[in-house]
Amino acid sequence: MDTRDLSAKKIHEGLKEKAFSATEVTRAYLDQIARHNGELNVFLDVYEESATEAAQKVDEKIAAGGEVQPMTGVPVATKDNILIDGEKATAGSKMLENYTATYDAGVVKKLKQQGAVFLGKTNMDEFAMGSSNENSAFGLVRNPHDLTRVPGGSSGGSAAAVAAHMAPLSLGSDTGGSIRQPAHFCGVVGFKPTYGAVSRSGLIALASSLDQIGPFANTVEDAAWLFAGISGRDPYDNTSREYSYDPQTLQDMEKYRGMTIGLPDEYFIPGTEEVVAKNIQAVIKSYESLGVQFKRVSLPHTKYALSTYYIIQPAEASSNLARFDGVRYGRFVEDGQSLRDIYVGTKSAGFGAEAKRRILLGTFVLSSGYYDAYYKKAVEAKEYITEDFTKAFQTVDAILAPTAPTPAFKLGEKVDDPMQMYLSDIFTIPANLAGIPAISIPSRENDSLLPIGFQLMGPKWKDADILGLGHLYQSA
Ligand code: GLN
Repeated sequence: MDTRDLSAKKIHEGLKEKAFSATEVTRAYLDQIARHNGELNVFLDVYEESATEAAQKVDEKIAAGGEVQPMTGVPVATKDNILIDGEKATAGSKMLENYTATYDAGVVKKLKQQGAVFLGKTNMDEFAMGSSNENSAFGLVRNPHDLTRVPGGSSGGSAAAVAAHMAPLSLGSDTGGSIRQPAHFCGVVGFKPTYGAVSRSGLIALASSLDQIGPFANTVEDAAWLFAGISGRDPYDNTSREYSYDPQTLQDMEKYRGMTIGLPDEYFIPGTEEVVAKNIQAVIKSYESLGVQFKRVSLPHTKYALSTYYIIQPAEASSNLARFDGVRYGRFVEDGQSLRDIYVGTKSAGFGAEAKRRILLGTFVLSSGYYDAYYKKAVEAKEYITEDFTKAFQTVDAILAPTAPTPAFKLGEKVDDPMQMYLSDIFTIPANLAGIPAISIPSRENDSLLPIGFQLMGPKWKDADILGLGHLYQSA
């Protein structure tokens, strides 16, 4: 069984028709992981035993006439900031190297109920801070398309796992682009749902008002499949909403053909590589040939998005990371003379450079005297940015833009220049600030040797339309 020939949908159909067993499917993915993980460093933990057992249970259930739900027997890889009961969850940090989760994240609980098989935990930038996966305390991840390049971040492992067919589906988290940007770099689909569509319970928090869990897959159809399995209200996350997504809506082709997509002036700017800009033009042509119309729109406050994000996100991160102090979580000083020794010793040894930078930035913008000048202003700017989208969506159904200004860059190219690294998320950050759904879809309409994606953004709670438009493109 070759995992390159499989998809979540095919696995589902095969299990239903008894063409193969869940055990065979899981074995094939575990073998693919064993073949490539040494080189790529995608998985931090592989669940050889528990995945095999879970698959066997699925087979027994199917043999006994049990229902094959959409996610039954489908393997999933999980970013290492999402908790699975009894398994390690490091969030890519030395701080949590020895931490074992004591409960299942909301998304994991939902997937377990449906009989999904968890393959293991994927590498990531420490506490999801980064755009290249080079901030992981457990080594970098290589892009499966070019081993000298980054897979993107912070969900670099989850993107690379799907790209290298080590998993048909994976889960990532997106606070400022961490699903879409690595999807674009690795040539896979990455979807950030509407804020509140998916539970954040059991997600190790980076910036709680922006974080959202979402799927990676090789096709929009598969991403929609996993999204259906994880979305909806969870009593353990009060920002999650009653919401049910039906992948059947992907088939409403006529509806999507009749849609109008907006092209925001502010996203076609110098600094975007020509190959990326040209790719967007080709995507426009494809959509036009399907009947979709295009219209220019303006999102005038886009220029403030990056700076707004780099105030709000570190502010929330500094507050969320305060618990890693050697007393509540993490411990690097066993015999400190004072509480202060424990705090300083633990934080100095446990956090990497980027985490320290964000904690310092965040603490600064929240400190008295600077709170009004920075944090309060950023919250206001966030509202203007959101308002821009609300206005634009009065005249268009979706917005098309590049996912990132460049294809995957070289390992080491930006590690010493945080500003360059931050610019990698210039096109993805606005959707997080506005809480809207956004997807990155690989496009083959370019002569680039590296994968290039495009981004579709939609109005809040119109996740189905964004997925539908994406599927329309892929099915053509
Ligand atoms: N690269 C961005 C950052 O470092 C986004 C991270 C994310 O979405 N988790 O903040």
